[in-house]
Amino acid sequence: MSRPDLLQAGPLMPYLVEELERRFTLWPLHEQAEPAAFIAREGRRFQAAVTSTFVGFPADLVEACPNLRLIASFGVGTDSLALPYAQSRGITVTNTPDVLNDDTANMAIALLLACSRNLVANDRYLRAGQWPRAGDPPLGRGIAGRIIGIVGLGRIGMVIAQRLEAFGCVIAYHTRNLRADVPWRHAPDLVALAREAAALIVIVPGGPATQHMIDAEVMDALGPEGLLINVARGSVVDEAALVTALTEGRLGGAGLDVYQNEPHVPEAMFGLDQVILQPHQGSATRETRRAMADLVIGNLDRFFAGEALLTPLALSPSSRSVSA
Ligand code: NDP
Repeated sequence: MSRPDLLQAGPLMPYLVEELERRFTLWPLHEQAEPAAFIAREGRRFQAAVTSTFVGFPADLVEACPNLRLIASFGVGTDSLALPYAQSRGITVTNTPDVLNDDTANMAIALLLACSRNLVANDRYLRAGQWPRAGDPPLGRGIAGRIIGIVGLGRIGMVIAQRLEAFGCVIAYHTRNLRADVPWRHAPDLVALAREAAALIVIVPGGPATQHMIDAEVMDALGPEGLLINVARGSVVDEAALVTALTEGRLGGAGLDVYQNEPHVPEAMFGLDQVILQPHQGSATRETRRAMADLVIGNLDRFFAGEALLTPLALSPSSRSVSA
C-alpha cells in the first residue's frame, strides 16, 4: 500500500523525522533545490503538512497547497502559523499543548532564581579568580514573601504560579480575563503590577495582540531592583527599550529565553552581567521534545485514519468571520 504524501515545511528533530518517514512519503521543502518551484509544481499533492513553531507555515505556503486539510505543528505557539487564513480555508491546525508545561515553567523558575541570586555572574566571578582576590560578590535578593507578577495565566502560567507558591512568593497575574478558578489576585493594570512586583514573568502568546506589551513604561515601573523574565515570545518585549533600560540601570535584570529576531540577540546584552540569556530552551528537554513529537505523530495518524484529532486548535474568531 502506498504511503500518504506529507509536506515537511522545514527542519524537525531526528526522532520525529524517522517516525514520519516510517509512515509517510515525506517531502522536505527545505531540502528541495528550488523550494518555490517545487511547491508550485507539487503543492496539490498534499492533504497534510508538518511544521514547527520555529519553522512556521506562512500564508503563501497555504495558498500553494489547494488540497491541504491539516497542518500539524510541533510546539504550542501559533504566531508563526498563518492560523486565521488557514482556518478560513477549512484547514485544521494542531499544536502540542500541555506536554511542555512543566519544562517551560521550570525554565521560567530557573531564570528567576538564577537572576535573583546572580548565579551566572557569580560563576564567571569565581572562574575569573576574583573570589580570593576581591572577596565575596555583591549580595543577591530573596524571592520568598515578594510579589511575582505572572503575565499570562494559561496552561504554562498556571504551572509557574503553582511552583512559585512552593517558594513562598505572593502571586498576582495579568490577563485580559479574570480567572474565577484560582486563588491569586488579578491585576488588570500591567504597569501597576510592575510597580509592586519584584519580578514579572511573561508567558502570553506572541502575535499582534501582545506586541511590545512589555514596553519602556512597564520596565520603568519594575525599576532598578526589578527583574523581567521572558519565556513567551521575543515580540512581547520591546527589545530596544529593554537594552536601553538595562544599560542605563533603570531595570534591575532580565532572564531571557526568547528574542525578537531569533537566533540573533542584541550584542549589547552580551556585556551585561545582570542579564541571563538562553537560546530558546523552554521546552528543550529530551522527555518533552519526544512527547511533543509523539503528539504530532498522533494527530497525523488520526487524520489519515479519519479519526478525531488529539489537539486541534479551536477556530479563531477571525477565521469564523472569513468563512461565514
Ligand atoms: P495559553 O493559551 O494556555 O495561555 C495564554 C495566557 O495568556 C492566558 O492566560 C491568556 O489569558 C493570556 N493572554 C493572551 N493574550 C493576552 C493579552 N493580550 N494580554 C494579557 N494576557 C493575555 O498558552 P500557554 O500557556 O500554553 O503558552 C503561552 C505561550 O508560551 C505560547 O503561546 C508560546 O508562545 C510560549 N511558549 C514558549 C516556550 C519556550 O520555549 N520559551 C515553550 C512553550 C510555549 P486571557 O485570554 O484571559 O488574556
